[in-house]
Amino acid sequence: MSATVINGKELAKKLRADIRERVNQFIEETKVVPHLVVILVGDNPASVSYVTGKQKACEETNMKSTLIKLPVETTEEELIKIINDLNADKSVHGILVQLPLPKHIDEQKIINTICVEKDVDGFSPINVGKMILNEECFLPCTPAGIIKMIKETGIEIAGKHAVVIGRSNIVGKPVSQLLLQENATVTICHSRTKDLKYHTLQADILVVAIGKPKFVTKDMIKPGAVVIDVGVNRVDNKLCGDVDYEGALEVASYVTPVPGGVGPMTITMLMENTLEAAKRLTR
Ligand code: NAP
Repeated sequence: MSATVINGKELAKKLRADIRERVNQFIEETKVVPHLVVILVGDNPASVSYVTGKQKACEETNMKSTLIKLPVETTEEELIKIINDLNADKSVHGILVQLPLPKHIDEQKIINTICVEKDVDGFSPINVGKMILNEECFLPCTPAGIIKMIKETGIEIAGKHAVVIGRSNIVGKPVSQLLLQENATVTICHSRTKDLKYHTLQADILVVAIGKPKFVTKDMIKPGAVVIDVGVNRVDNKLCGDVDYEGALEVASYVTPVPGGVGPMTITMLMENTLEAAKRLTR
C-alpha cells in the first residue's frame, strides 16, 4: 500500500483564502480590523520562526498583527502588566504568548492572565473547561487543526478507534477530547504505557505527539491506518516528525508530512480564532 499524503500546506492555503474573505466582509460591515498581538520573550530560534509564521498568516488573511518582543530577562510582573494592558485595549482581539517562556516565568500564571475573550490559543482554564463541556469556546489550535484536517480529507472519525500518543495540555489531552467529541473510541498513551506497539496496532487513526524523531516505525502501524504526525524535530538541520514517514507511507492509508502537515493547520486555526474573537468583541 502507498498512503495518500495529506497536504496540510495546500489545505491551509485554501482555508486561509476563505478566512480572508470573511475578514474582508467583517471589516466592511464593522470598520474593525481583527488584531492579533503576539508576545515573544527572548529569542529562541524555533519560537522566532513560529512567530514569523503567525505574522505571515495574519498578512495572508488581512488581519492586523503586532509583535511585542521582550528581552529574556523580562520579569513575570512586567509580562503580567503588559498582558493586562492588552486585555483592556479595545483595539486588540487576540493575545498570544509564545511558549515556552524562560524558566523564571510561571507559564500557567501568564496563560491565566490573558482574558478568556482574547485567549485565541485556547489554553486558559475556562476555555479548556468549556471545550470539555462542548460549549462555545476557543479550541486549542493544533488539536482543532488536526480534526479539521481529518474531516476536510473526507475521513470519517465516528466509530473509529483513535490512539493518541502524548498527553500534553496543548496537544495530547485536547486532541483526545476532540476525537471523543467526534465519536471516536479513544486510547491515550504516554511514557508509562506498557507495550505501546500493542495499542498503536489497534489504531484506525493514530495521532503522534511525543517530540522524538521517527519514534513510530512502520511495524507499529495498523495497515490502512490514518497517521497524523504532530512532532516537529530538527535532525541534522532538517525538520522531521515523530513518525518514520517513509515507513508509514508503505502501510498507512493516509499520512501527514513534516513539515507541511499539522503545522500550517495550527496557524490557520489561530487565524480562525482571531476572527471569531474580533466578532465576539465587536458584537
Ligand atoms: P510534550 O509536552 O513534551 O509531551 C510529550 C508527550 O509524549 C508526553 O505526554 C510524554 O509522556 C509522551 N512521551 C514521551 N516519550 C514517550 C514514549 N517513549 N512513549 C510514549 N509516550 C511518550 O510535547 P508536546 O508539546 O505535546 O509536543 C509534542 C511534539 O509536537 C513536539 O515535537 C512539538 O514540537 C510538536 N508540536 C507541534 C505542533 C504543530 O503545530 N505542528 C504544535 C505543538 C507541538 P509523559 O506525559 O508520560 O511524560
